[in-house]
Amino acid sequence: MFFHVRDLGIRAARFDVEVAPGQIDYQDGNLRQANVLKASGKAELVTGALGEMRVSGHASVVMEYDCDRCLEPARYPVDSDFTLYYRPVDEGYGDEKEIDGGEAEMGFYEGDGMELNHVLREHVLLALPMQRVCGESCKGICPVCGQNRNQKECQCRAVASDDRWSALREISTAGRG
Ligand SMILES: [Zn+2]
Ligand SMILES: [Zn+2]
Repeated sequence: MFFHVRDLGIRAARFDVEVAPGQIDYQDGNLRQANVLKASGKAELVTGALGEMRVSGHASVVMEYDCDRCLEPARYPVDSDFTLYYRPVDEGYGDEKEIDGGEAEMGFYEGDGMELNHVLREHVLLALPMQRVCGESCKGICPVCGQNRNQKECQCRAVASDDRWSALREISTAGRG
């Protein structure tokens, strides 16, 4: 669904969509939808601001990624309201500036308008945590033997704590050899 700035000048556009996995390119190889994304809301022009668009609504989806620590697949449900603003790049708003006093996110669009899927992608990315882990208590993978320590403790702890030095030693030995 495309929001054409000219159409929004006449009236706000309402949307109520279901987006199947694969239709949005999250531009992140380690991020995928685990189910259908559902979103509804409206897109409108902001009064008195040249070509500025506001897209607001609600979206729900379950996202899936590989845990940063143990590499096992983990799921993160997104179910939240959003309000995103977009300004035309070519109206002299070009320099990215912080917007005063709001948590609202400001983006830019090129040309005639904005694709809804692009807005939804942005909302999902903002809703995800910075650290993508399967759980706060994830123990991760042992750097020495590769064992997933959530499943089984290995015996390499002492060695692991010292592995910066062993790495250095390896480098210097390799240099001599
Ligand atoms: Zn994990
Ligand atoms: Zn180990």
